[in-house]
Amino acid sequence: MTVSTSPAVEGWFATDDAPALLGSRCSACGNLVFPPTAAQAFCRNPACSGEQHEPVPLSRTGRVWSYTDAQYQPPAPYITTTDPFEPFAIAAVELPEGIVVLGQVADGYGVADLSVGDEVELVVETLYADESGERTIWRWRPTGATTEGEQA
Ligand SMILES: [Zn+2]
Repeated sequence: MTVSTSPAVEGWFATDDAPALLGSRCSACGNLVFPPTAAQAFCRNPACSGEQHEPVPLSRTGRVWSYTDAQYQPPAPYITTTDPFEPFAIAAVELPEGIVVLGQVADGYGVADLSVGDEVELVVETLYADESGERTIWRWRPTGATTEGEQA
């Protein structure tokens, strides 16, 4: 058995030095969606009859649109990495592309570190590890920049 590091979900994000989420763009109307669809899929824009999509890396930074604290353990297929369950923060982040993407907040950060409008950047962290290696997921890490340019 080989031990390796790989994404917990295949094809949703790139894991190189500058990790980015991968969306799908309709080749007919340019409609952008995340999570990515299959290359051959009907466009979700009801006014478009496009059926071809291409993968596009999305912006690596966005603004906090909303956030919450997961105080209770989510149901399966959620995998607990701590026993007992430790609450974690979830942020809905609006990307410049106009898409809102949910994600956990980076290790070491909680709701106390978040405000609506704050800038966050995408990082890739370990979600869990099993006998075959580490599985990674994207998370949002506050950059310290705020909307109005005020001090955080
Ligand atoms: Zn389309």
